[in-house]
Formats: sequence, structure tokens, C-alpha cells
Amino acid sequence: MTQTIVPDISFRAVSKRYGEVRAVDRVDLDLPKGSFVSLLGPSGCGKTTCLRMMAGFEQPSEGEVFIRGDNVTGVPAYKRPVNMVFQHYALFPHLNVADNVSYGLRQRSPKPPREAVAKAVDEALAMVRLQGYGQRRTWELSGGQQQRVALARALINRPAVLLLDEPLAALDRKLRHDMQIELQNLQRNVGITFLLVTHDQEEALSMSDRVCIMKDGRLVQTGTPRELYDEPVNGYVADFVGKSNFFAGIAGNARSGLIDVALADGMKATGRASRSTVSPEAGEAVLVSVRPEQIRLAAAETDLPNQVAFRTQAKVLNRIFLGEQTEYLVAHEKLGEFMVRSPRQGNQALAFEIGDRVAVGWPPDAALILAKD
Ligand code: ATP
Repeated sequence: MTQTIVPDISFRAVSKRYGEVRAVDRVDLDLPKGSFVSLLGPSGCGKTTCLRMMAGFEQPSEGEVFIRGDNVTGVPAYKRPVNMVFQHYALFPHLNVADNVSYGLRQRSPKPPREAVAKAVDEALAMVRLQGYGQRRTWELSGGQQQRVALARALINRPAVLLLDEPLAALDRKLRHDMQIELQNLQRNVGITFLLVTHDQEEALSMSDRVCIMKDGRLVQTGTPRELYDEPVNGYVADFVGKSNFFAGIAGNARSGLIDVALADGMKATGRASRSTVSPEAGEAVLVSVRPEQIRLAAAETDLPNQVAFRTQAKVLNRIFLGEQTEYLVAHEKLGEFMVRSPRQGNQALAFEIGDRVAVGWPPDAALILAKD
């Protein structure tokens, strides 16, 4: 018999309404034990409200919240085995690092013995690589070190889940990148489930085992970063996770996994459906989504590789040198403007000039046929 592993946190049809606003709308969600999960979406899509309902700062209007299989709907925050780290992590300025870190433990009743607290503080500081910093004042620390103290404070009582609400948003770019790596290593070492709220797609994709994409209070898709990139359920996810070009059309018949699409002005393209969703039906309005790096460029159509089935002509409007790649903005008289990313070939990084006429195309498996969302 296979044993089912109970998720650390589950939402079952959770909604939260504020008057007329549906901040969270019938969300089902499982956080697997020991995973690093991100909630990703634009401002106002309901990420923080989800986090606050997990922490117990807010209660759902409908639905149920489970922590390790226990229904905690209605249970207040201080009785839940979860901690939260905020963007403005607010260390207590009048306390040194050790007293900041042990604050939660010392509020417990009965108070744990002094030696046990000291040991827990040392362990928590070691987790965030701040051994020996216990007696420092918080204002003597850099922004990154202060953030690590906030993490140690949240991890000291070994919560089931650590909830991180845009914890890196206040840091500058370089420090933010260092802290992303630090957070990932920390999560692997302590094995506690981390849930990160962010609107930064690069941050979510680079750090997480699983990413949950939200829009207007709804959960649109959950998957590994790779699944979201390669098999998005719709154009919203394809555009939010990386960049894509979209061409509107009408689905035709499907044959051996490929779907024909009628594009503007009698043009036709072929692509495949995303594995995350059902194939669009014939006659349905669809988007053909092609990633810029999957579009091929050549001087003439006959120079395009054999597998490139869709071929046409376009004009280079702009180009940006990106080192290993060059990004071109090209214009097609019927399809409009779209982006192409070409890898460097020898010294040919800037192979085409602004104003050049070029052949463009893509192989059928590079085009995803997605429902208009
Ligand atoms: P951000 O990235 O800007 O923090 P978010 O995705 O975390 O956004 P939420 O803060 O969860 O979004 O807000 C979701 C929606 O609910 C928004 O429309 C917001 O205005 C509304 N909302 C959130 N909290 C409240 C509240 N206490 N009272 C009324 N409306 C609220």
C-alpha cells in the first residue's frame, strides 16, 4: 500500500471577500512537505491574502484551510505552527541580535530554560550563517544580515511552514540575488516548507520547486518552473513566465497531435496543444504562442532548417546585442511585430541589420496553440 504524504498546508475551495472585492476566489492548493513553493502574480491578485489566511491573520469567507491534515479554519494565528517573514522585517531596535531571535521562544508559557534558549539561538544563527553575532546591535548589521536575523527569528521554533511575503523586495539588486541563493540553501538545509510570495517571475522560477500563478484571485496554474514555461495552460501564463509572441487565429482540425490554425489574411500555421490543457476544438478562437528563442532567422527562406514548416518574410525594426544572443524586433505585414532571439554563431552575433529583409519561421512543435483566456 502506498502511503499518502499529507501536505503541510492545503486550501480547499478557499475564498476571501472584502465587501464587493473577491480577493481570493475558490483556491485549491497543496504545499508538499519540504518543498519551496512560490505564489506568483501581479499586484492585487490575492497573493498576500492567501498567505494571511495560511498564517491565521485572516479567516476565509468560504472554504477550509488544513495544516498537516488538521482543519485549522478559524484557528487564530498564535495557535498555528507557521511563521511569517515580511518585506519590512521590523527587528526590535532596543534588543540585540540574540534577543531578537529568541523573542518568540521567550514569549512562551512556561518559559523555556535559559540554556535551552541560548542553544536554540546559536542553532538558529548558525542556520543563517550568523554564528557569533548574538551580542551585536541590529543597527550595526547590513540589510542582508538584518534579513537573515529575521529569518533566524522565524525559524527558531521550527514551524511547519515559513511564509515569506516579498522578503527581498526592499534589498538592492545584488544583495537580492545573493539572498535568493541564501534562501534556497537555507530551505534545503532546514527542510522546512517555504512559501514565497513574489511578483518577480525570475525570482519565483529560479528559487522554487513549484510555482503557483495567480490572476484576479484565482489560481491559474501550478507546476514546476519548466512545466509552466513549456506547457502553459493559457496565454496569460505563457506571457507571465518568460516572454512569448502571440498570433491570433482560428483552430482547424487536429491530426496526430498537431493542430492547424488559420491566421490573419489566409495565412496558416501548425502547432501543438499544451500538455497542461485540453486541445482547442475546431472553430475555436486561439492564440499561437511562439517563444522568441524558437523563431529562426535566415537571409532567405531556403536557408531555414528543414523542420521549419511555417516560413515567411519580415523586416528587422530593431536589434539588441545581449552577448550570447541577439534580440531582434521584426515586423511582418500581416502578423505585426514580434521578437526573435538568435544565438551567437561564431562572430555573427549581429548578423542582420536594422532595415534588412529576413526569412523567419518556426517548426510545428515550437508553436503552442492556446485558448484565448
Ligand atoms: P501585492 O503584490 O500588491 O501585495 P497581492 O497579490 O498580495 O498584491 P492582496 O494584497 O492579497 O494582493 O489583495 C488582493 C485584493 O484584495 C486587492 O484588490 C486588495 O485591494 C484587496 N484587499 C486586500 N486586503 C484588503 C482589506 N483588508 N480590505 C479590503 N480589501 C482588501
